[in-house]
Amino acid sequence: MYKNILLASDFSPEAGRAERRAVEVAQKYGAQLSLVHVVDYYPSMQLEGGLAMLPNIEERLNEKAKEDMDACVERLEIGLQSTRIGHGPPKGVIIDYANEIEADLIVLGSHGRHGFGLLLGSTATGVLHIAKCDVLAVRVQD
Ligand code: AMP
Repeated sequence: MYKNILLASDFSPEAGRAERRAVEVAQKYGAQLSLVHVVDYYPSMQLEGGLAMLPNIEERLNEKAKEDMDACVERLEIGLQSTRIGHGPPKGVIIDYANEIEADLIVLGSHGRHGFGLLLGSTATGVLHIAKCDVLAVRVQD
């Protein structure tokens, strides 16, 4: 069955359920588990009178992503095969990494930080449409 699972987490509370499910599935099948997180980077913000760069925002977001990744690795309590912090559109980065490590299953939350307005979140929908492998979208709400 599954041998090489990729968990995608935005480290939101909603993704916690997907994180736990990914560990359960990996343990059930004796599969390797990898983890990817994509930094949401907004290079500028709209201010009165124009666009202004936030000071060191990219650096600060990267530092926060590393801290969050370390905390996630610890709470998963399973030896991970690999981890990746990526930049760019989340669905594209998740798919590229899944292809790179030849994942046979991608696990993500049905929703994340981008809201609950849709039946499935935008990242979840995008990954489902373009993944070459199975995708498990873990329902994050009861
Ligand atoms: P969304 O479709 O954006 O609401 O998010 C659905 C799920 O996709 C989340 O619960 C995560 O598992 C995954 N995801 C969303 N954004 C990211 C991200 N920036 N990095 C890694 N995984 C993400």
